[in-house]
Amino acid sequence: MNNGRLILVGAGPGDPDLITIRGMRALQQADVVLYDRLAHPDLLAYAPSHAERIDVGKAPGKGGTPKQQHINALLVEHARAGRIVVRLKGGDPFVFGRGGEEILAARAAGIAVEIIPGVTSAIAVPEMAFIPVTHRGVAAAFGVFSAHAAADDAAPAPDGAHIDWSIAARMPTTIFLMGVEALPVIAARMIEHGRSADTAVAVIERGATPEQRVIVGTLQNIVAACADVRPPATIVVGEVVQLRDALNSAAVLKA
Ligand code: SAH
Repeated sequence: MNNGRLILVGAGPGDPDLITIRGMRALQQADVVLYDRLAHPDLLAYAPSHAERIDVGKAPGKGGTPKQQHINALLVEHARAGRIVVRLKGGDPFVFGRGGEEILAARAAGIAVEIIPGVTSAIAVPEMAFIPVTHRGVAAAFGVFSAHAAADDAAPAPDGAHIDWSIAARMPTTIFLMGVEALPVIAARMIEHGRSADTAVAVIERGATPEQRVIVGTLQNIVAACADVRPPATIVVGEVVQLRDALNSAAVLKA
């Protein structure tokens, strides 16, 4: 009998302690772990010593196969061989994580699939910087956008992922992932689509890690302040950013 299966596991936003207990248990039974660049390397220690650890964060596909297709093929190959395959992804697998595509590939090959949610950086990275994505009386909704395709917004996005700026600019809190390169475009488009140039912005670099850096500014001045910011970073636009000082000092007082 073939007991091979695929378990998609969200690794959480940066700190390895922010994986779920169920995610940790899945790693403990893995025969193979395929992991991303954004999954913390310490998490691999939960896998048994016999487990094969495969870094699919950098590895290009064989013979020029696009990376995602190569990963899908690897998942299927290992699960078909009867192994418990853990696919460890940064944050949550279904938030810009291509988790759905991997499940479709596994299902198409008749492989059993389990999914274990993760703490998404979209919410937790601002949170670890004391910025709530909603706050009573300040923001009653938030939107999360991939800025991956926005850096060169004159060119058509290769994967069809366009930002509808009229929606992005009207969210009480707007969160952009993969936006470091696109920050100048983000700031300009948000202003063009009606957000005040004084709107508060926070850019959180390497959130939930000891190297976390938080840069706070406005749509007007954030680009100049972020010249040396490198990915991964999460961008938050909205009044909630201004709550940070009050929440941060309250937390310190309580400690
Ligand atoms: N599935 C992931 C997101 C994948 S897209 C999740 O749910 O978190 C990758 C983007 O997530 C990065 O470009 C960055 O915008 C954000 N990100 C991931 N880890 C981060 C971290 N430690 N600090 C800041 N942003 C992070």
